[in-house]
This record gives sequence, structure tokens and C-alpha cells, in this order.
Amino acid sequence: MSSSHVVVVGAGIAGLAAARLLARGGARVTVLEGSPRIGGKLRVSEIGGLPVDEGAEAMLARRPEGLDLVRDLGRSDELRHPGTTSSAILSHGALRRLPAGQVMGVPSDLRALAASQVLSPAGLARVPLDLVLRETPRGADVSVADFIGARMGREVVDRLVEPLLGGVYAGRAEELSFEATLPAVAAAARTHRSLISAVRGMREAAPAAAGPVFATLPDGLGRLPLLVSDDIAEAGGTIRTSVMVRELRRRSEGWRLTLGPARAPETLDADAVVVAVPAAPASRLLAEDVPAAARELARIDYASMAIVTLAYRASAFPRLPRGSGYLVPSVEGREVKAVTFSSVKWPHLRDREPGVIAVRCSIGRYGEEHTLQRGDDELKAVAMTELAATCGVSELPVDSRVTRWGGGLPQYNVGHVDRVARIRAAVAKQPGLAVAGAAYDGLGIPACIASARAAATRVQEYLEELSDGSDGHGQGEQAQGARP
Ligand SMILES: Cc1cc2nc3c(=O)[nH]c(=O)nc-3n(C[C@H](O)[C@H](O)[C@H](O)COP(=O)(O)OP(=O)(O)OC[C@H]3O[C@@H](n4cnc5c(N)ncnc54)[C@H](O)[C@@H]3O)c2cc1C
Repeated sequence: MSSSHVVVVGAGIAGLAAARLLARGGARVTVLEGSPRIGGKLRVSEIGGLPVDEGAEAMLARRPEGLDLVRDLGRSDELRHPGTTSSAILSHGALRRLPAGQVMGVPSDLRALAASQVLSPAGLARVPLDLVLRETPRGADVSVADFIGARMGREVVDRLVEPLLGGVYAGRAEELSFEATLPAVAAAARTHRSLISAVRGMREAAPAAAGPVFATLPDGLGRLPLLVSDDIAEAGGTIRTSVMVRELRRRSEGWRLTLGPARAPETLDADAVVVAVPAAPASRLLAEDVPAAARELARIDYASMAIVTLAYRASAFPRLPRGSGYLVPSVEGREVKAVTFSSVKWPHLRDREPGVIAVRCSIGRYGEEHTLQRGDDELKAVAMTELAATCGVSELPVDSRVTRWGGGLPQYNVGHVDRVARIRAAVAKQPGLAVAGAAYDGLGIPACIASARAAATRVQEYLEELSDGSDGHGQGEQAQGARP
């Protein structure tokens, strides 16, 4: 094991987390990152004197994997939590509080739903039909819009569920898989005829006051990859940036990677490989030796988006926002799909620069790539107009930034769970190969770390078998198809 060489392709959080575990476990690890910097969708830079994330900004604290990683890096005492998680939804032209009792937008408290005024009177009247309707048939999978629309009416989909899912996937409810994007609700709905009853049951079963929902780091979540890479280096691992992996081929023993520009290619041999890149490059790398996985990966679509971050003087707001932000349903016909008042959500930012309010505006939904096809100044103008309309901000920002995430968010469309099972089954037949990252079982940071842990375990078991003298094929047959 100690002399085994493992190559990890991709230095996003999944690749780095896998590399760290493998290096700490005694393998010789090389991480290859195609871009000039590590971190993938995690990146932070200063705006208005504040470290504000350009990509992911909050990791779920109700799952252990992200917090465990920070703890293993000896940084638990640095974790910061939101000052408020109260967020709003822009519906029928006004900001409304999210109704109490909802789970990812699926309502369970009809009185709270009515009080929120998110739905029109007709939309509201349609929801309780769910309690009396016959069971909604569904096969192996169904779209979010088809199932929830059939139970509760289209307005619940358009004005609650899609915007909440949009905060994660920037996707469309007609395409997104109920099983993959709302797994807990989908499971509960299998045991209840009524969706309202299913969600009520989930809420009753949930542990009360289980601590903060989200966490970040004082200098931004974009610091996390840097901390992990320091730890990899300390464990003897190597990280190379600006090294694009162009080909991955199986050899009689181990794997050969072709790297760098076509005119000056370099090869690197490895006993085992973790492919931790988005679906399209993963598909290209697996095309020759794992074609069944490559075909399925090629069918995972991605949404593009941009984050416009604006820093205002606090005095630019006639009234300081009190909530963490708001979501905008696409039926409102506005281009900004979500707004986060970073300086309100994260008190440590406010404490650092009390006179500055940093705001992140997300633009771009799946299928609306044209909204991004214009210059940065135009995108900033869209964001400023949005804030003027909803918050009455009249001044220009003191600082601004546009970050584009082309193909940033995988779409877990109908059939995704089965597709991932087929990918994993094909990969499992290859000795010393594992895949990890946002394309598979969850795109949040803890889910990516979970996939990294599973990949590292699979590789470690394979290397142990190798050093015991077996060819590792036994492990290859194990069910990587099981979801981590
Ligand atoms: C704008 C935005 C906001 C988000 N907000 C949150 C949030 O608040 N909370 C949360 O939990 N999640 C959030 N997410 C999701 C989460 O950040 C991502 O799903 C996660 O970081 C993906 O990690 P990854 O390691 O799978 O992939 P990536 O971060 O995509 O990393 C893959 C890496 O592989 C490299 N690569 C690709 N091809 C090759 C190749 N051929 N050779 C070598 N290297 C290659 C890429 O350059 C990249 O660095 C957000 C995502 C986006 C885009």
C-alpha cells in the first residue's frame, strides 16, 4: 500500500477530500487539476474589503461529512453559522416569508401557507385536494412537476418547489427527478397517499432543534480546499495545477494517464485512479475502457449561472434587510433567481465591515443560457435593478464582481438514480478505479465529500488486496453501485 501510486483527477472538493484520505492512509498520491487553481466550485475573493465566496458559500451542517472534514483539519473552532436562516420568496410582485411547515417548498401547514400569500387564492384552494385525491401512480421515477403538480397543483410547483430546488440545481421542475432531488419527500410519499400527510410525518419524525443548519469558514468556504491541500502536502501528496488529463487507459497492471497539451504530452502511471471531475470530462476519460459508464455520464446535463456580487454602503438601504435573502420563481419573469444578503446571513462579515452590505445575486436557470450571454456590466445592471426594485437601493455599489459558472450545476433529471447505479456498476468492474463528485449522489459539499470517502475506501481496499497478492478483481465486483 505504501508504495502504491494513486492519481486523483480533479482538485475540486471531492478530489481533494479523496486525495487527503488516501495520502493519510499511506498511498503515494498525485492530484492533477486542469485549471490554474484548486477548489473547483469553491472560490473566495475580497469585495468591499470582505471575503465573499464566489461559488458555494454555505455547507449543510445537518449532514456530518463537511463538519467532519473541518474537524479533521483541526479547524472546528473556526466554523461560523448564519445569524438568520429566515428567507423570503418573491411572489405576485412582493416579498413573502416562506411558509412554516414546508420541506423544500412542499407545504404541510395549510394555515401557514395561506398566511404567507405566496399562492393565488385559486392556487391555494387547489392544495387541500391532495388530502382526498386517489394515490398518484408513479413508476421508478417521475418529474418533480408531474408528481407534486398532480397532488397539489401547479402553483405549488412554480412558486415554492421549483424556486427552492432552483437554489440548488438552477433546474426546471419538469425535468428534475423527484427521487434524486427530493429523496426524503419521495420516500415519505411512497408510504402515504397524501403528500401533505407525508411531509407532516417527516416533520414530526425530525429531531427538534438539531443545531445550526449551515456552516462556513470566517474567510469563506473557498478557504476549505486550501486547508485540505495543505493537509495533503503534509501527508506527502503532490498537487499539480494547470495539468489537464486528456486520456485514461487501463493497462495490464494499473492505469496510464496522458496529460498536458497535445503537442507535448506526458504520461503518468498509477495503480489506482479516482476520477473526480464533472460528468462531461469524466465521460471523455472513461470512453475507451468503461464505455457503458461514459455513455451514461454524457447524458448528465449541466446548468450555467453567474453570481453577481455587489458591495453597498449600508446607508444605501432605506431599511436594512433582516432575512438572509430571497428566491425568485421563474414565473415572476425576472432574471435574478436568488438574492443572498451575505452581510446579514453571516454576522462575522457584518462585524468585520459594519458599514458595508455584501449581496450575492444569482442569474441563470437551466435552459436560459441566453441570459448570461452579455457583458459583465450588463449583468451587474440587472442585479442592481433587482435590488432597487425589491429593497429600494438607490446608490451605486462601492464594489462589484461577476463570477461565471459555465456548466456549473449538474441536473439530476428523471432517471438519475438509476443512471448513477449503472455508472457505478460499470466502474465497479474496473480494478482500482473510482469516481466521485457532484455528478452522482448529491451536489452539496457534504454529499461530494461522502462520495470522496466512498471512492477512497474503494481504492484503499483494492490496494490492500493488491499488496496481499490478489489481482484486486474480487473487490472490483463489489457493489460500488450501492450509494455511499
Ligand atoms: C455558484 C455555485 C454555488 C454553489 N453553492 C453551494 C452551497 O452554498 N453549498 C453547497 O453545499 N454546494 C454549493 N454548490 C455546489 C458545490 O459547490 C459543488 O457541487 C461542488 O463543489 C462540486 O465539487 P466537485 O469536486 O464534485 O467538482 P468541481 O468543483 O467541479 O471540481 C472538479 C475539478 O476538476 C477539474 N477538471 C475537470 N476536467 C479535468 C481534467 N480533464 N483534468 C484535470 N482536472 C479537470 C476542474 O477544473 C475542477 O477544478 C454550488 C455550486 C455553484 C456552481
